[in-house]
Amino acid sequence: MELKKPYLNQFPDEKGYFGRFGGAFLPPELIEQFKSIEQAYLTIGNSHNFIRELRDIRKHYQGRPTPVYYAKNLTEFVGGARIYLKREDLNHTGAHKLNHCMGEALLAKYLGKKKLIAETGAGQHGVALATAAAYFGLECEIHMGEVDIAKEHPNVTRMRILGAKVIPVGFGAKTLKEAVDSAFEAYLKDPVNSIYAIGSVVGPHPFPKMVRDFQSVVGFEAREQFLEMTGNLPDNLVACVGGGSNAMGLFSAFIEDPCEIYGVEPLGKGTKLGEHAASLSYGSEGVLHGFNSIMLQNADGTPAAVHSIASGLDYPSVGPEHAYLNSVQRTNVGTASDEETIEAFYALSRHEGIIPALESSHAVAFAMKLARQKPYESILVNLSGRGDKDIDFVVENFPPEKY
Ligand SMILES: *Cc1c(COP(=O)(O)O)cnc(C)c1O
Repeated sequence: MELKKPYLNQFPDEKGYFGRFGGAFLPPELIEQFKSIEQAYLTIGNSHNFIRELRDIRKHYQGRPTPVYYAKNLTEFVGGARIYLKREDLNHTGAHKLNHCMGEALLAKYLGKKKLIAETGAGQHGVALATAAAYFGLECEIHMGEVDIAKEHPNVTRMRILGAKVIPVGFGAKTLKEAVDSAFEAYLKDPVNSIYAIGSVVGPHPFPKMVRDFQSVVGFEAREQFLEMTGNLPDNLVACVGGGSNAMGLFSAFIEDPCEIYGVEPLGKGTKLGEHAASLSYGSEGVLHGFNSIMLQNADGTPAAVHSIASGLDYPSVGPEHAYLNSVQRTNVGTASDEETIEAFYALSRHEGIIPALESSHAVAFAMKLARQKPYESILVNLSGRGDKDIDFVVENFPPEKY
């Protein structure tokens, strides 16, 4: 398979397509707005001042570069390939999401916008965006289903402390899908003064490209760090895939390198529809939330119910670039079940003193399986976030004495 070079400049095309995937399926009122965001991103986003300011923020505010760490104890415990971790859990706020939120908010500032609007499921994107809003002195409005508000109380509290307005969404199932509808509605009312800041490499063009570009700092840092540490490129790259932003962040710097790439999907409780959120593994082509990709759908084409113990992976579709790279076999799909994920969560905590997010634990779980299959190789895992947010849930449902 030959990919056009240089890959990052060629994909997506000017209409926002990665092969057949992507695009911008928008209500007519929003077409102009998204065009102007794209234009602004292409001009402002490539300007010297913007790039310099973002680099400065990465270094002095976010604490980047985050380290690449050789997980010697975990490697010995597994007894296979050398496992390395890109420590996004050490990025400010404890996960990779701030990488694109700071980029989106900086663009909003350059555009003279006053307000950032977004939806959030578990609250992770809401907290990262509220952080960026505080930094730039912008208003922040986060739409969140009432069911999620009750479940994810610490993140709701964080958003309020950071000065964001949390809007409870009380219709339908009162979860993520309704929160997206509500946030879009709020954005439609005032698209001139506000910007809709999407939380992953999903949504209509230009968001999959923009979010990937902002996250690519992860991969470009890691590539240089890994070469410096070992003199070689990693043989394998592993990252968990919800919408796919932390994975694209890592992968984008290695697309033209001879590395095997694995995006890991949540297999949940099993392979039946409704038991997992493994879109690329079991889904089919369809349009959701303004882009064409591979999604889990019911017979009538509506998005299927999904499950994962990691709420950040609980999404019935996947970023269009992942759908494309998988379709041309540049990337592979791996899976990790809830049970394997919990085992990896405890393994990394006990052997390395690093408590990973449940999302990231999926990547660790798959890397542990891969390490046994490829004992003489190296594996670089994107540790997308830290697990503080998950400790109560894990201890209640999977008590430490049992592992
Ligand atoms: C939100 C989240 C994810 C999943 O989102 P992607 O866009 O797929 O990266 C993964 N890890 C952590 C820690 C998250 O907060």
